[in-house]
Amino acid sequence: MYMVIVCYKCGRFLLAKTSQKTRQCPHCGSRLVLEKAKKVAHAKSAQEASNLIRTLKKQKQESGFD
Ligand SMILES: [Zn+2]
Repeated sequence: MYMVIVCYKCGRFLLAKTSQKTRQCPHCGSRLVLEKAKKVAHAKSAQEASNLIRTLKKQKQESGFD
């Protein structure tokens, strides 16, 4: 399983495997502890997760937050 999380340093979306404990944010380089990060979605595959990230980014832009 994969999940989409929000980086608590830079606030951007990234994907991680649910089996991982930590993940380096590809945007700001922070090492994130996954249990502390906000999880916004789950997906069965990396492809599905990246599609979700694309959708979430679009929603975020349309709602005026960044
Ligand atoms: Zn980050």
